[in-house]
Amino acid sequence: MKPVPSSEAANCPPEETQALLDDLVRLAVSLGASTAIPIDCRSIVVEDHLAALCAPPGCPNFGSAASCPPHVGGPPWFRALLAGFHWGIFFKIDLPIQAMTGSQRPAHFRQLHHIAARIEKAAVEWGCAHARAFAGGSCKELFCADVPTCDVVQDGKPCRHPNVARPSMSGFGINVFQLMETVGCSRVSPPARMGPRTHPPSPGWCWSVDDAV
Ligand code: SF4
Repeated sequence: MKPVPSSEAANCPPEETQALLDDLVRLAVSLGASTAIPIDCRSIVVEDHLAALCAPPGCPNFGSAASCPPHVGGPPWFRALLAGFHWGIFFKIDLPIQAMTGSQRPAHFRQLHHIAARIEKAAVEWGCAHARAFAGGSCKELFCADVPTCDVVQDGKPCRHPNVARPSMSGFGINVFQLMETVGCSRVSPPARMGPRTHPPSPGWCWSVDDAV
């Protein structure tokens, strides 16, 4: 795909880019997404204080995986990444709120990681060499709950699940609720038991489309 001049980038993707975005939206829906929407990456809001919520006592997974803080670059890294992208795909899976806290929660979150990774793979194959996917929920609890530690963090080995596990948006300070409002999705309130210092449930996933190929 050819670079998109920034003057064209706001709300009018060039035809070639639009076709790719449409294909990726169709792929997301075919994989189980309830909604998938192209977004201008400049509309993604990144806030340092949201990433700080991962630190104790905010999230029990802090430090447990290579894709969670403090092992990721956080908001500064993500802002620098965003500067190189124009378009992304936001997607979500609609679920009853009980599904976010019940025994099936890990399975639902694994599906979201799976969809994000599949879209990323397709984008790379279709010409966006630097496409990156971001998910929600720590990959340690979702994919490596059967082992005591993350292989990458503990032993410097490759990730055990590189084809499905993706970093959580939380660790980069991405304002998911703002993102949902931007794309016109209904806002979901966190269950009361989650408490004020806990991240809201991640109802959607963001995937960034590289325009620099
Ligand atoms: S090895 Fe497991 S915990 Fe570590 S980054 Fe990969 S999926 Fe996550």
